[in-house]
Formats: sequence, structure tokens, C-alpha cells
Amino acid sequence: MKGHNIESAALRAQVAACTRIMNAEGLIDYSGHVSARLPDGSGLIIQSFDDSRAALSPDDLLECDFDGNVISGPPGKSPPREVFIHTEIMKARPDVGAVGHFHPETATMFTLVEGRPLVPVKNHAARWSGGIPVHPDPAHVNSVESGDALARTLGQCHAALIRAHGVVVTAETVPALLIDSVHFEENAQTLFRAAALGEVKGLSQEEMDGFEKRFNRRAHIGKLWKYYTGHGVDAGYLPRDWAKEISGTD
Ligand SMILES: [Zn+2]
Repeated sequence: MKGHNIESAALRAQVAACTRIMNAEGLIDYSGHVSARLPDGSGLIIQSFDDSRAALSPDDLLECDFDGNVISGPPGKSPPREVFIHTEIMKARPDVGAVGHFHPETATMFTLVEGRPLVPVKNHAARWSGGIPVHPDPAHVNSVESGDALARTLGQCHAALIRAHGVVVTAETVPALLIDSVHFEENAQTLFRAAALGEVKGLSQEEMDGFEKRFNRRAHIGKLWKYYTGHGVDAGYLPRDWAKEISGTD
């Protein structure tokens, strides 16, 4: 991790660890990507187009500016073609420190059936009480224009679905992004199963507001990040020598 200050080094380790965990959890597979805003605000960290999500390392990551140009990174590597999802959302949303784009089966399914919207049904889905907009264009988001259109669909929400394609989740930090991504697909799976039993009663606005008011988001993220990184090290898909660098959640 030569050439990066300690803060940036920890951020790279978080992005690599988050990607490997999301792969192990079945959220990311051969595609999908996680980005983090650089500490100096000059751009973002993102993986390359074709590095394996299962074996991503901090040194593989690229630094890109908000136009998607590579600032630094291993020679010959280019960012994912959908880097504009990340750049355009980060430009539009200064509150966002991390963006995830992936193609989870269940959540994406809710963009396909008329009259079956993805709504919050599990308590942690109160995170999306402001709505989960659906971007109508299923195409790859591989230009500034299409990234900007997606950022507009997202608006001030914390997640959006892309019709017949996938999801975008935004959060303040990389650990928060992991936990939100887990809960996002969890909520979709629960809704899907519950719908087989009968009419589903989603969470009311009042219930979600109440949950959010009493919820200690920071503590919850710390607990789950500890669980997932610890499990990853024990199971062998996170190198043990990353443990120190990924121990924090800021
Ligand atoms: Zn995609």
C-alpha cells in the first residue's frame, strides 16, 4: 500500500474486504462494485473492470477522478464501465461516502412485476423509509449522461433499483454500505417469501420513524462489520493480516 497515507490505506482495505464479503454473501458475484470517496475529496477508490471480486486486494484498487479518469493505480487497468454510477452519485450527493452497485436476484426481481413494488417489511429496512425509486432504463450505466440520470432517479434516497438490472446502495462509510447492502437484499427476500403466504403488511411510516429514532446506527454497523470481517478471516476469504486495517468502521 505504498504511496498512500494510513487513512487511504485503511479505506482501500475496507473496499477490498467489503467486496470479498459481499461476494461471499452472494450479493456481488463476477460483477458488481464498491467505491469509497477519497479522504481528500479528489475522487474515489474503485476496483478495476475485471479483477475478481473474490480475490480483490487493496493494491488492486484504482483512484479515479469524478469524470471516471484513472488518477493512480496498477498500470494497464481501467475502472468498470459503470464507474459513472459512482462518480455521478458522489457528485450529486456530498453526504455519500460509499456506493455499491450489484445485481442481487431477489431485490432486482421486484422491478419486473407490475404492482409488486419493493417496500420495507423488516425493521432494518426503515433505512429506506424515504422510498426506493426504480430507475426505468435497464441499460448499463456507462456514460456521464446515464450516470447523471440514475443519480436523479436516486435523488436524496439511500438506495434505488435499476429495472431488470440491479441495485444501487449509498451510505456514509464502506462498513455502513456493507450492512445496508445485506439488509437491502434480506428485506427483499423476506418480502418475496412472505408474499407466498398471503397479503403482506409493510412497515408503516410511523413504525419506520419510531425505529429510526431509537436505532443506534453506528453501534449496529460496528457490530455487524465485526461479525462479517471476523467471519471472513476465520473462513479464510479475508487475509488475517488485514485484520488490523479493517478493524475500524469510520
Ligand atoms: Zn450493473
